[in-house]
Amino acid sequence: MCGIIGIIGHEPVNQALYDGLTVLQHRGQDAAGIVTSDGRKLYLRRENGLVKDVFHDRHMQMLQGNMGVGHVRYPTAGSSSSAEAQPFYVNSPYGISLAHNGNLTNAHVLKKELYRQDRRQINTDSDSEILLNIFAQELSRQNALHVTAEDIFAAVSGVHRRCKGAYAVIAMLTRDGVVGFRDPNGIRPLVYGVRESAKGKEYMFASESVALDVQGYRLVRDVEPGEAIFINLNGQVFSRQCADNPKYATCIFEYVYFARPDSIIDNVFVHKARMRMGRKMAERVMREWPDHDIDVVIPIPDTSRTSSLEMAYTLGVPYREGFIKNRYIGRTFIMPGQAKRQKSVRQKLNPLALEFKGKNVMLVDDSIVRGTTSGEIVQMARDAGANKVYFASASPAIKFPNIYGIDMPAAKELIAHDRTEEEVAAAIGVDRLFYLSLEDLVQAVSKGNPRLKDFDCSVFTGNYVTGENGDYFTELEALRNDAQKTKRENDMAAIDICDSA
Ligand code: AMP
Repeated sequence: MCGIIGIIGHEPVNQALYDGLTVLQHRGQDAAGIVTSDGRKLYLRRENGLVKDVFHDRHMQMLQGNMGVGHVRYPTAGSSSSAEAQPFYVNSPYGISLAHNGNLTNAHVLKKELYRQDRRQINTDSDSEILLNIFAQELSRQNALHVTAEDIFAAVSGVHRRCKGAYAVIAMLTRDGVVGFRDPNGIRPLVYGVRESAKGKEYMFASESVALDVQGYRLVRDVEPGEAIFINLNGQVFSRQCADNPKYATCIFEYVYFARPDSIIDNVFVHKARMRMGRKMAERVMREWPDHDIDVVIPIPDTSRTSSLEMAYTLGVPYREGFIKNRYIGRTFIMPGQAKRQKSVRQKLNPLALEFKGKNVMLVDDSIVRGTTSGEIVQMARDAGANKVYFASASPAIKFPNIYGIDMPAAKELIAHDRTEEEVAAAIGVDRLFYLSLEDLVQAVSKGNPRLKDFDCSVFTGNYVTGENGDYFTELEALRNDAQKTKRENDMAAIDICDSA
């Protein structure tokens, strides 16, 4: 998963892009990059690491100009090489820099096509470089010295015809402006906003509205699925629907886990959607277990706090913080290897024994993926003296891989892939397990915007809105299993050693 941002204004944008990326840091901690343009030349800095570590004074001073694009990266199936840090740049036509959130599912085919048919060489394993080159190729069909909005819309239509999968994109044309577009299903989010400055209007595109809020931009709206919005150097805004059959199929996991609660995605407040998930969890418990003996509801920080609080309130039982989080270590999920993951759960969370001792506790998490965190946490609750341990997942059982840009393990490594609810409960060691139903999850989100009828729910259902099947998953399985991840990490370590030698 990645975070993207683009600004076009009247003042230097380097600091604003940096600040925006720190707000989007939860979407990717692996690499960061910013490209800016002064209308003649572009300036680029990208490297592995957190935003605060990638940019130093000397880089910020070098990033000149009043428009630019930024990216934070979280690798899925690709490598963690810094060569794959974004934005990517291609000089022809018009000097295009591009930041991408999502995943192309026909990247292999496109890579061949780009070489054989378009004579374009792709230098990394990143699908985003492929996407950039497809966009560039489509744009090069236009022949004018200066690009027009019409040219850009024609190129985005070409991207939609050729690319399959999920893509929210912000691209900058060095002498012309910034364009934001979303795939025809709108799987990954993208918004744009505006603010008034003394010199006129300034515009921002971002993965999440929270990046607009913190810098005084007003949310105008979401970029629609299939739509492209182009803002030129004169501050003129052009928009066009560039897809033949656009529809909303936003990734529902954005609401479950990824997005910040203070973001609004496709007109739904993430915080409120999570509250509704909590309320529906409580209703399910009361329906199926009217004489429950839950003493206390305890969230597994951070994401599930919102739903837990509402769940406890609806159940009428106390809500307590029972796990204290060490904020200074990384997410556990992205560390390869089961042993490392288990160790890091214990490093990350410490139980407050007095909240557990002798009580029947209902632990709440936003999701159960591998079950590593859940299993460890259940054991920690027992070690801290809990009497009974129940568990609620504020989303349904995750049974299938994500192919649209979320780092999920191979299907075999998902604890619920070939287990029933009872078997998952036994595997993580709980006395009782509740999953939110898919119907309840969909209702919890779509209540905020009745226009949203369909979502990408593929990790729960195995139905992929872009129609992937068979061979694609066999390849994916091979790329994503733990052994492969560890091998890639080791390969990268070897490269790092060579580089620094
Ligand atoms: P697990 O031990 O694999 O079941 O981890 C479940 C935890 O991982 C939950 O607390 C989620 O908040 C979190 N989580 C869910 N999806 C992801 C993801 N794609 N990347 C990192 N963490 C995740």
